Amino acid sequence: MFAEILTVGDELLTGNTVDSNSTFIAQRLTERGYWVRRKTTVGDDVEEIKTVIREILDRKPEVLVISGGLGPTHDDVTMLAVAEALGKRLVLCEECLEKIRTFYERLHREGYIDDPELNEGRRKMAYLPKGAEPLENTEGAAPGAYIEHDGVKIFVLPGMPREMKAMLENEVLPRLGRRKFIQRKLLAEITDESKLAPLLIETLERFNVRIHSSPKGFGKYIGIIIFGENEEEIERAKAFMEGKGVRFEEGW
Ligand code: ATP
Ligand code: MG
Repeated sequence: MFAEILTVGDELLTGNTVDSNSTFIAQRLTERGYWVRRKTTVGDDVEEIKTVIREILDRKPEVLVISGGLGPTHDDVTMLAVAEALGKRLVLCEECLEKIRTFYERLHREGYIDDPELNEGRRKMAYLPKGAEPLENTEGAAPGAYIEHDGVKIFVLPGMPREMKAMLENEVLPRLGRRKFIQRKLLAEITDESKLAPLLIETLERFNVRIHSSPKGFGKYIGIIIFGENEEEIERAKAFMEGKGVRFEEGW
């Protein structure tokens, strides 16, 4: 039951933009009980995006969230790449076109843009892979898309963080069930992560949990996060480590 995230944009690869979108998406999916197994970033290149989407689909995640490259400019090619990766055509979404028209008319009325016309770039955003369900963009022009493909739920979202966040909350998360999956943050009073390492391995072997660890508090603590499907299993894993002499404080 895992998820993958794909972010698209040359600016992410050059370091001109920090990829905060994938972090935000990862946080939300993790809270929902998904295990984000991989995040990938590629530039605005149809072939690169296609290749990586096919690789991700081969791994059969339950959910794939893609962000970036839905805008009106020539380098916004994500929808085309998604369509090609799935062997589908891009088709006009009439309802999307109407919303885009209304969006630019409003911007024009409010004095933000000179020209409300639906030029080629603006029309381009109304094309979605055949069979895709449009996702509403309450903060911008470009609609997103939802496609179920071979058991993978694929969501295509804009790159603008404000647009992406609104669409994730309003359109993506409601389409995903909430699973029983819990994370618990603990501070272990051990100064040396390497001392904790063998005990973590033993705990992972015995219990159905995942554990992340990282140094915290100037060498005084190791922060650990235990992920599991229920509180009891997490509690058992914690008790086991306590039995081996580790003292924990809750939270960090
Ligand atoms: P729009 O429909 O608004 O044009 P888009 O889908 O085409 O959006 P991009 O052109 O890729 O989005 O990016 C728009 C803005 O969002 C840029 O300023 C870009 O730096 C920023 N952005 C894109 N991807 C990310 C990301 N992963 N994390 C943070 N910011 C991002
Ligand atoms: Mg872009």
